Amino acid sequence: MDKILNYINGEFVAGKQNKFLDNINPATGQVYSLIPDSDASDVEAAVKAAELAFPAWSKLTAEERANYLNLIAAKIIENLDALAKAESIDNGKPFNLAQTVDIPRSAKNFNFFADAISALHGESFRTNKDVINYTDYSALGVVACISPWNLPLYLLTWKIAPALVAGNTVVAKPSEVTPMTAYLLAKICAEVGLPKGVLNIIHGLGPSVGSPLVSHKKVKAITFTGSTQTGKSIAQATAGQFKKLALEMGGKNANIIFADCDFEKTLETTLRSTFSNQGQICLCGSRLFIEKSIYEKFKTALVEKTKQLKQGDPLKSDTDQGALVSELHMNKVLQCINHAKAEGGTILCGGNRKGNTGYFVEPTLIEGVAWDSKTNQEEIFGPVATLIPFTTEEELLQMVNSTTYGLACSIWTNNIHKAQRVAHLVETGVVWINTWMLRDLRTPFGGVKESGYGREGGLEALKFFSEVKNICIQTFNETRS
Ligand code: NAD
Repeated sequence: MDKILNYINGEFVAGKQNKFLDNINPATGQVYSLIPDSDASDVEAAVKAAELAFPAWSKLTAEERANYLNLIAAKIIENLDALAKAESIDNGKPFNLAQTVDIPRSAKNFNFFADAISALHGESFRTNKDVINYTDYSALGVVACISPWNLPLYLLTWKIAPALVAGNTVVAKPSEVTPMTAYLLAKICAEVGLPKGVLNIIHGLGPSVGSPLVSHKKVKAITFTGSTQTGKSIAQATAGQFKKLALEMGGKNANIIFADCDFEKTLETTLRSTFSNQGQICLCGSRLFIEKSIYEKFKTALVEKTKQLKQGDPLKSDTDQGALVSELHMNKVLQCINHAKAEGGTILCGGNRKGNTGYFVEPTLIEGVAWDSKTNQEEIFGPVATLIPFTTEEELLQMVNSTTYGLACSIWTNNIHKAQRVAHLVETGVVWINTWMLRDLRTPFGGVKESGYGREGGLEALKFFSEVKNICIQTFNETRS
């Protein structure tokens, strides 16, 4: 059986305790590889390696570091199918999705930040005729990148790439639920000759690896994507240490469908934005607000389309819906469906586990659950969405903004004035109008309220991973206070 290993100081090693955890293929429920059950002593070794690598790495020119990023990106593309297959087996997501979205986007993250670093610029002010103030960016040192299971390589590289190109060295902790692509990325980094210790990847559980990593005194910044609960625990654990923190957390996103939308386009995209990756994308819509006058028509069409989704072996090319990531997660999602029924919900389609092998849940649509119920307030993070009718914009905004989350939202209407008005008033960090998941990596990304703290993406990410200094020059002999 394959043994995944930690990547520390350019070497592939087991955890110091030589203990391993099972890695399960969620489509079969079978253990298919083992991952190190690492602990604080492995974190210590990784931080030490990153610390030793920092002086030389940060002294390279940005262009030299960018060259390494481009080499990694090229290798990812060279190994596209193998990586997509590994991600599909590890995660349960359809191979097609991994091959066309997750893995190409992971390569793009490296290419993008390799380019973006050349645009990182400070500001300069001539304060007086003889005084100039300017900003100066330099690397922080050792930084931690912690990622979740739903987009394992895509989100890990979204963090690692800006951290490295800005001159930092990294200790990364991928999700223990989907470790395989991070292991393959480490192999790629070794192959392209990334200097040892520049990137270190430690596998294992959140409490035994993530926790000592975030609290480590030498770690200057933490970029985390995962649940709000874990994000809160990181904020609490690091309070008073004054580390830089970027926390991307849970969501309860709204799709807002007005009667004057382009019906067919809205329908197609709503199907995708609700059920892609079995609803396990943080940006998936899980509350579908539909204007009353088209509610019945839209509901009937969406239920019909949902029933046509092909669920099955993630590796088959015609599969639309794969498995949920784990048995634990499947049981949580099934429990949420039962709870929705208890809250008065009617199941329009789906609602059950599919088969007894692997962790499949039918794509599920529910109506009749109150907008302020637990079902419509808490994140489910599975192939489950509720349909909620609305009449006025005022009523709509009250319902949309009622959750503690504020990640993303999509608005569907052909009235651009209404779209912009509502976009301004919804409490989310990302708004799409007549589209979904369209990203320009130059724009800052992140949620508001309990969905996000800080911003990722573009120059924001490069600034996050940099120390910013103000330098003031007195150019003549006169003195100024
Ligand atoms: P999670 O919070 O359970 O785990 C995320 C990562 O944190 C894992 O690597 C885990 O091992 C680690 N971790 C756990 N406990 C830790 C601790 N005490 N200290 C440090 N690290 C710790 O999240 P998950 O279940 O892997 O991912 C699903 C969640 O991620 C959902 O809530 C989803 O909405 C969210 N998510 C958000 C975004 C976004 O951009 N906002 C993107 C993807 C996923």
